[in-house]
Amino acid sequence: MLEKKANVLDLVGVGIGPSNLSLAALLAPLKQVSSCFFDNKKEFQWHPGMLFSNATIQVSYLKDLVTLVDPTSKYSFLAFLANQKRLYRFATAQFPSVKRREFNQYFQWVSQNLGNLQFDTPIVNIHHDNGRFIVEHPKGVEYANNIVLASGLTVKIPEFVKPYISSTVFHAINYMELKSPIAGKRVAVVGGGQSGAEVIRLILSNKSEIPESITWITSRPNILPIDNTPFVNEYFFPSYSDHFFKLPKEEKARLIKDQNLASDGINVDLLNDIYRELYELELIEGRGKICQFLTNQSFVGFEKNLNGWGLALQDKNTGEMKEVEADVVICATGFEYQPPSYLESLLDRIDVADDNFIFGDDFSVKWDGPKENKIFIQNGARHTRGVSDPNLSLMAWRSAKIINGLLGGEIYDINNESTALDWQNEPEGILAHNGYDHHFDF
Ligand SMILES: Cc1cc2nc3c(=O)[nH]c(=O)nc-3n(C[C@H](O)[C@H](O)[C@H](O)COP(=O)(O)OP(=O)(O)OC[C@H]3O[C@@H](n4cnc5c(N)ncnc54)[C@H](O)[C@@H]3O)c2cc1C
Repeated sequence: MLEKKANVLDLVGVGIGPSNLSLAALLAPLKQVSSCFFDNKKEFQWHPGMLFSNATIQVSYLKDLVTLVDPTSKYSFLAFLANQKRLYRFATAQFPSVKRREFNQYFQWVSQNLGNLQFDTPIVNIHHDNGRFIVEHPKGVEYANNIVLASGLTVKIPEFVKPYISSTVFHAINYMELKSPIAGKRVAVVGGGQSGAEVIRLILSNKSEIPESITWITSRPNILPIDNTPFVNEYFFPSYSDHFFKLPKEEKARLIKDQNLASDGINVDLLNDIYRELYELELIEGRGKICQFLTNQSFVGFEKNLNGWGLALQDKNTGEMKEVEADVVICATGFEYQPPSYLESLLDRIDVADDNFIFGDDFSVKWDGPKENKIFIQNGARHTRGVSDPNLSLMAWRSAKIINGLLGGEIYDINNESTALDWQNEPEGILAHNGYDHHFDF
């Protein structure tokens, strides 16, 4: 049960992306919990720099903010469609995948219907004093017994590229904001995952702005599809996440590598679109070869030269070096979890192992403060929960775990969901006896 203190909220959330929006939606019926969530954006926007008109979500629309935990919630995607009077047309349209723009509209609708979200409020510092957290923002402070941090991932971009970030060198996540005209230019796209492929399709489909050439660079041996076949998809099930959580750390690291294409491969429809666009441009329209594919390449250096940008590449198999020149360079080089800067005052109180926070089963991290004051982290546990952690699939379930952890009971019944494979069969005694994900003496 929650201990109530005057002027102290039970929970303050940092960031209102899908993760904390899901948590806020599942908390809404629980009137006994006082909470408030903050985001620095002016309104809800889901990765606006990549909200391309033809981009689709990579999961079923049932993997929305709430449905897999509470199908009766009024904050489901289907409830949104019904509210917007588009349910019949949606059912008839039978989209193979829902557009990301429509999911963004859904998220925005939920955000407008919850009363405890404050936008335009960046959190700048959090410290702990006198049995509560003090959460600071430019308009004042909030006091909280517990905090939930869901401020997103940080872009991964090679250090040697960072000094040159501009309208001609940028990360894919900033495409809509930073992109300069590319007609007739030489464009290099670095990264062979979903983001890189989405950028390539966008470039190829805009017939009024076709570049002189595209070089698509990847460290992978080919342009590879996502594996979302049914048995592999069980990596995105609650019991697999729980199973994974209990494995030894070396096994976790190996599996995360092995399972990369289950989360970071490219949608098959998207691959087909790109292949057909290239066929049309290069062969039917007779423009000749537009796109050069450089596979097995490590991106090892970068410079400005007289003709534009020079990218130094090294073949992963042969070690052979080559240089590619481009006028515009788009890094679709992924994301990683970094402790947020607003956490600096608390960082030396949070336990770390192998550069990662140590997570409990309820997504709270181990720290030296009172056990009634929990620090939950969303979308920061890939190292210990597996490839599903940044994905939408287990978002509602993770929110429910957090709520159960916060209230100390089975508020949401999230156990014993059926699976085809037998993930419950964990090796005996692997989970450290203290309930954390790490064998640690403390
Ligand atoms: C382009 C793109 C498409 C994706 N599509 C899919 C998909 O189809 N299916 C899928 O399963 N996964 C997808 N993902 C992965 C994942 O689902 C999303 O990244 C998702 O947005 C993660 O949600 P989040 O709430 O954890 O983080 P974010 O969405 O990054 O939200 C974090 C929020 O915190 C705010 N914030 C940051 N710092 C502060 C601060 N100091 N104070 C206040 N607010 C702050 C940010 O403004 C932001 O609004 C996609 C990822 C990307 C990048």
